[in-house]
Amino acid sequence: MAHVDAVVVGAGPNGLTAAVVLAGAGLSVLVYESAAEVGGGARTQELTLPGFHHDPCSAVLPLGAGSPVFRALPLDRHGLEWVHPEVPLAHPFPGGSAAVLTRSPEETARSLGPDASRYLRLIGPFVDRWDDLSADVMRAPLAGLPRHPLLLARFGTRAGLPAGTLARLFRGERARGLVAGLAAHVIAPLGTPVTGGVALLFALAAHAVGWPFPRGGAGALSGALAGYLRELGGEIHTDHPVRSLDELPPARAYLLDLSPRDLAAVAGPRLPAGYLRRLDGHRRGPGVFKIDYALDSPVPWAAEECRRAGTVHVGPSLPEIGAALEAARRGREPRPPFLIVAQPSLFDPSRAPAGRHVLWVYGHVPYGWRGDLTEGIEGQIERFAPGFRERVLARTTAGPAELEARNPNNVGGDIAGGYSGGLRLLFRPTLTPVPYVTPNPAVFLCSSATPPGAGVHGMCGYHAAREALRRVFRK
Ligand SMILES: Cc1cc2nc3c(=O)[nH]c(=O)nc-3n(C[C@H](O)[C@H](O)[C@H](O)COP(=O)(O)OP(=O)(O)OC[C@H]3O[C@@H](n4cnc5c(N)ncnc54)[C@H](O)[C@@H]3O)c2cc1C
Repeated sequence: MAHVDAVVVGAGPNGLTAAVVLAGAGLSVLVYESAAEVGGGARTQELTLPGFHHDPCSAVLPLGAGSPVFRALPLDRHGLEWVHPEVPLAHPFPGGSAAVLTRSPEETARSLGPDASRYLRLIGPFVDRWDDLSADVMRAPLAGLPRHPLLLARFGTRAGLPAGTLARLFRGERARGLVAGLAAHVIAPLGTPVTGGVALLFALAAHAVGWPFPRGGAGALSGALAGYLRELGGEIHTDHPVRSLDELPPARAYLLDLSPRDLAAVAGPRLPAGYLRRLDGHRRGPGVFKIDYALDSPVPWAAEECRRAGTVHVGPSLPEIGAALEAARRGREPRPPFLIVAQPSLFDPSRAPAGRHVLWVYGHVPYGWRGDLTEGIEGQIERFAPGFRERVLARTTAGPAELEARNPNNVGGDIAGGYSGGLRLLFRPTLTPVPYVTPNPAVFLCSSATPPGAGVHGMCGYHAAREALRRVFRK
């Protein structure tokens, strides 16, 4: 087998980003992907009926649009175009009204009623500083000094709070519900430290870069990364599951876009027992239950703001969202579940036949849960969109087992690369200053099991590739 500089295992957003960074530095790079196509958590498929293009995993990519590494790559030249919904996010309440999160902080504040000025005071110091803040927040936690320490320290005083505490800084249920829904993206109970920071970061992303979809679906982002990688001379082999590093061509560096479990399986014989034990102790997060729908017309939301929104958070109040997340953590079905809903075809007609629509929904469930959340999900949507069920032409459901079958990185339905509450968001998968390196100097971990964690932003891959460049290739 030919000798190459670097081999990347797994062509998810982080694996592809790592490969692009290495190939961009002039190295020869091979990527091996077990699925038939690249993309991992950023793919688009006809899951229900012909002509309906669904995203089986990620759909809404604020952290992708705001990612320091993606913004530095010529992905538009390789077909990436962002589609911005009129309203990035709507959060409906009983009675037919909704709070909104839009590009305008003022419009967002107005939708929060009595908390309008409090919202503006909270986000004011950061709202025009996305580039500075995102570069520091998405950096490897202990990698030198932040570039904007005062800004980061000021952000930290709010970001370190549990989301429940941050939400209670507001008086009204609208602002409290909005904060809780934003924090729920981290899939950890709202009483956990740092979950408030996730809510703030998603709100700031909406104002700075929006909550867009790639035109054509999330797969277009992966296609653009793969296209750029090939232009740089990288090679991608799909339909190629890797069971052991011994199967791979000799290389100076191996970057693994894998879960900690599969890092141990693939590279185990070349890693010391102590490190393998620590990987084994890596804590898993709750799972999700996903449904992709083909609809004969848009969702009949009672609140008109939701009919103009790319994303809708369904679960009205701080206590209800908190209870749903807590149930998933404690091994129980959430009743009712909190839902994250995306409606990309309202803004991108290429996603479905004329007049028809795709709908993307998930709710949180316990790790490895074997139940069926379809009734719970549809009952919850009907609460805010009476008549929804009559619009359904077809549905494809995926609980934890199906999500893991689609992508082995979704262990037990955990889509976040491991539990992400508190300091686990910053120090993962083990407590170590440089999480991308392993005790074997040729083996690196580049998946979302490393900081800054879940989401399609490529920053885990970027940091791992930078470590490999520095340590192995002296670049
Ligand atoms: C249902 C769902 C909804 C989501 N929604 C969003 C969202 O809206 N926005 C957002 O930003 N993020 C979302 N995410 C999270 C996001 O998809 C992930 O955080 C992101 O994809 C992680 O990227 P990654 O490269 O680390 O891993 P992955 O995307 O999981 O890629 C890993 C790749 O490695 C491959 N692989 C695994 N094992 C092997 C092996 N042994 N040999 C070869 N290849 C292997 C897999 O097939 C996969 O292609 C969602 C995820 C899911 C599942």
